[in-house]
Amino acid sequence: MHHFTYKNRTLHAEGVSVDKIAAEVGTPVYIYSAATIERHYKVFAAAVGVPKNRVYYAMKANSNLAVLKLLGSLGAGADTVSEGEIRKALAAGIPASRIVFSGVGKTESELAFAVDVGIYQINIETESELDLLSKVATARGKRQAAVIRVNPDVGAGGHAKITTGSSENKFGVSFDTASRIFAKAANMSGVRMLGLATHIGSQIRELSDLTAAFARMRQLTESLRADGHTIERLDLGGGLGIPYDIPEDFDHGPDLIHDYAAMVSKTFAGIDAELGFEPGRLIVGNAGILVTRALHLNPRPHTTFLVVDAAMNDLVRPAMYEAYHEVWPITQADKSAPRLNYDIVGPICESGDTFAKNRKLSETKPGDLIAIMTAGAYGATMSSTYNSRLLVPEVLVSGNQYAVVRPRPSYDDLINLDRIPSWLA
Ligand SMILES: *Cc1c(COP(=O)(O)O)cnc(C)c1O
Repeated sequence: MHHFTYKNRTLHAEGVSVDKIAAEVGTPVYIYSAATIERHYKVFAAAVGVPKNRVYYAMKANSNLAVLKLLGSLGAGADTVSEGEIRKALAAGIPASRIVFSGVGKTESELAFAVDVGIYQINIETESELDLLSKVATARGKRQAAVIRVNPDVGAGGHAKITTGSSENKFGVSFDTASRIFAKAANMSGVRMLGLATHIGSQIRELSDLTAAFARMRQLTESLRADGHTIERLDLGGGLGIPYDIPEDFDHGPDLIHDYAAMVSKTFAGIDAELGFEPGRLIVGNAGILVTRALHLNPRPHTTFLVVDAAMNDLVRPAMYEAYHEVWPITQADKSAPRLNYDIVGPICESGDTFAKNRKLSETKPGDLIAIMTAGAYGATMSSTYNSRLLVPEVLVSGNQYAVVRPRPSYDDLINLDRIPSWLA
């Protein structure tokens, strides 16, 4: 569920009309609903048994400082994948004791930074990373808490590019390697190996693959314990999906979170360990919309291209993952008004710069505003300045108030990113 609803036929984000934000901030603009983020976090955290267990919000989904601040104030930790993300989480007030560090390619300086700030856990993905971490931590007189990411050879997810749990994907080590690494880590001075992690993919809407992967995690936990190793933490990753195809009158969907939590508690029944969860998309996905203004119409025999002022550099999911997003008008037409066929496209000179094809909308004219729904996750975080377009601004709404939580940069900011070498000056 989310808090984008029509009042007097105008789309509102909580208590604020989207029209008003678009007029004051300009378009394109991302708008996030704080109440939606808060609700998703609380429902998820309660379902998976916080505080005994831990939720690390996967901040690559949406790493705006205001979003992090909100989630941190609710008690969330952060799952990070770079030094930049660790620094942003800390800057938003999430303590190092609630931050985990994942990722297949951590550098020596990133590991050193994480150890120095006293990060809660490093999710190791390769044997050479283990060696490097132990060296770095030993040099600092520390023993860093870590878990090893295993690849259960069960891939899942809404698209091949977001499947990570198959042995063909680059993530984690095999179960055999995990046993060997545990034996090796026992004698290392810089690492305290405390358990296992996994993460098999994203936009998972069906629990069977997760169930299979977790059952394999349980078996590995039991066999490692039988060999005398300590397994006190199991980090189960993120990946739960959300409905992208919500119609305007969407009420409520099937309760995936509760089914997931029940499956986890059944699968790990009797295994005494601290469970960790890394939801990203589930927390912020439908808490955000991308609002864009129609610029031009280009009619064709089979459809009309509706050219809008947002582009693939602002929201890359349709171009990159063939992702589906609902498109809602900001001003609702009469129920009886005819629906016309549109292809909604951005201004960039690539045919992939298409947000939606063959979409039925009430008549939309240049100047009208539309919302690309469910854009809170992997939207702004994946945006770029391609075509020398300005990074898209972000707004957070809470009740009747809103704030610009990332201003639109100026053209000077954009130009000043680059330097002209002295020999060309
Ligand atoms: C991306 C990622 C997540 C979050 O995935 P969602 O599908 O957004 O929940 C969690 N853990 C790791 C290691 C990831 O790479």
